[in-house]
Amino acid sequence: MKVEKSSQDLENEVIYAGLCIHCGSCNAFCPHMDFNKENGEAYVVDECAETVGLCYNSCPRNFLPISEMELKMFGKTRIDLAVGVYNDIIQVKSKNKDTILYNLVIAAFDAGIVKHMVLSQPKTKKPPVAFPVVVDNAKGAKKYIPKATMDNAGPLVTGIGQAYKAYKRDIGIIANPCHLQGLAKILVSDFNTGAERTSLKIAFACSSGGMTGCKYCTDFSGEFSDISYSPWGAPKGSGEALLIIRTDIGQKLVDTAVKKKLIEITDPNPDLSEMKKFLNKKRKKNFLTLLGKDLITAKYLNLNVDELKDMLEE
Ligand code: SF4
Ligand code: SF4
Repeated sequence: MKVEKSSQDLENEVIYAGLCIHCGSCNAFCPHMDFNKENGEAYVVDECAETVGLCYNSCPRNFLPISEMELKMFGKTRIDLAVGVYNDIIQVKSKNKDTILYNLVIAAFDAGIVKHMVLSQPKTKKPPVAFPVVVDNAKGAKKYIPKATMDNAGPLVTGIGQAYKAYKRDIGIIANPCHLQGLAKILVSDFNTGAERTSLKIAFACSSGGMTGCKYCTDFSGEFSDISYSPWGAPKGSGEALLIIRTDIGQKLVDTAVKKKLIEITDPNPDLSEMKKFLNKKRKKNFLTLLGKDLITAKYLNLNVDELKDMLEE
């Protein structure tokens, strides 16, 4: 999967068109791209002669062949339009004073799933800007565990590139759904990058990243993760969360966390109605934005007509 477009096309179609969500996918592995160290925005360092640009082909906001990506990532396509491909959804709580997300990171290191984690270091809250950090053990991860998706608003995929350049392997990441769309695009592309050193993708189901490009987003559950953490849909104020397990790696992570008494499954078959209500409300709003006056600029999704019909009739 490669499209013959370059960094100039990326500038015109995404960056200057207000679609960029500062995910860092375009500058993770391409030496001709970087991100602004003040606000995280992507920019072209020098125009290259490449006509089939890695930067363009990594970006989740110019084209996103969702079904093709799902087939390559999961070996199947979704049956649940709101949530994406998954094997199981459970409700959990922490068994100690640490957060569920931090306990999952401890389990990831304990199980040998990761040797490093890419996490976020928030720089400012208004506007939300964060930058990637790479940590090498669970203890080092503790202070970078995100509390909200705005804490992740920055070029986190670049952290995978940084870890690769430092010769690291078995790299995990906690990121927002849009970051993982970009990372998935790189992983299923025909480019040779270091992205295949990623061994775990944890999504933080997103309420908003607070960026202009967020209004075109249609993935709030983290569809291209191994496992999604969703506080949305769990009983309010309970401190519990839903975990959407999408891959065998995601399952291994949960099994380890339970076995090590880091988390506890409070409901193996939770009611999904509140989570789906949340996801569909946000998706519907943004699909309408895509179909409205912004359709021409926001043509990145191969919109599935049946999917849209179902959603808009709800
Ligand atoms: S890959 Fe991400 S950071 Fe780069 S232009 Fe696309 S949306 Fe922006
Ligand atoms: S709403 Fe969340 S997942 Fe969507 S683009 Fe914004 S930060 Fe990314």
